[in-house]
Amino acid sequence: MLSGKTAVITGSTSGIGLAYARAMAEQGANIMINGFGDADAIEKERAGIEADFGVKCVYSSADMTKPDEIHAMIHEAHKTLGSVDVLVNNAGIQHVEAIEHFPVEKWDAIIAINLSSAFHTIRTAVPYMREAGWGRIINTASAHALVASPFKAAYVSAKHGIAGLTKTVALEVAENNITVNAICPGYVWTPLVEKQIPDTMKARNMTEEQVKKEVLLAAQPTKEFVTVDQVAGLAVFLCSDTAASITGTLLPIDGGWTAQ
Ligand code: NAD
Repeated sequence: MLSGKTAVITGSTSGIGLAYARAMAEQGANIMINGFGDADAIEKERAGIEADFGVKCVYSSADMTKPDEIHAMIHEAHKTLGSVDVLVNNAGIQHVEAIEHFPVEKWDAIIAINLSSAFHTIRTAVPYMREAGWGRIINTASAHALVASPFKAAYVSAKHGIAGLTKTVALEVAENNITVNAICPGYVWTPLVEKQIPDTMKARNMTEEQVKKEVLLAAQPTKEFVTVDQVAGLAVFLCSDTAASITGTLLPIDGGWTAQ
């Protein structure tokens, strides 16, 4: 389905981003991955994508807090892979603290990585998509683009901001065969979430199952984690011709969380 096309995916060295990269490579897209982590592990993932799916995969170390590096990353994708057809804004971080103690530098970093980086990638990629006459922009928002939780001021603000950016750009490019949508996952089983479990078990004197269902999944009616493959499957669908009229939307994939 994406044969001959290029997908640039920010924050794709682990979790949801890596699942997007592999799912789009499976559809035949050449891939630019991006994000932080151990250099050997990243190289293994990059080479694995090429070997498993027979596509080209290049890595950009661009820091999503740095507009110049973001701009250069998009141009590099176009230069080395020939086009920028699919752009997935996925890089994200979290910090949980009460508003009166929330560190200013955490606020600035979360707004930069979770929101402003998408502005910078999109403004650089849209001219290439317009020129090609086709494009798909997918932003990983969150259930927190639709509802709030306490102690997550920066994250919830950034994700609500992504919702506004998604709708605005969708309107601007609507006649150019470019769609812009935001995927809004609830709790997704990623290494990030998995790592919190042992400490929470100890702190609350709970079993693993209790931590998952009574703490992490308290807000998620299915009491099941969303999987990275389910999120990636939705992104692949948004790249299909069938999804050409879906634009400017915020699509929950949250086990019923935001239905409440
Ligand atoms: P993750 O920590 O596994 O992945 C985050 C990625 O972003 C990593 O590749 C990391 O290296 C990268 N990154 C962080 N800072 C960066 C920077 N300055 N520059 C470039 N890359 C950077 O987490 P995840 O759970 O896969 O999250 C991915 C996205 O999904 C985030 O936007 C997150 O807000 C969103 N999300 C996650 C969940 C969940 O439950 N896991 C739920 C809703 C939304």
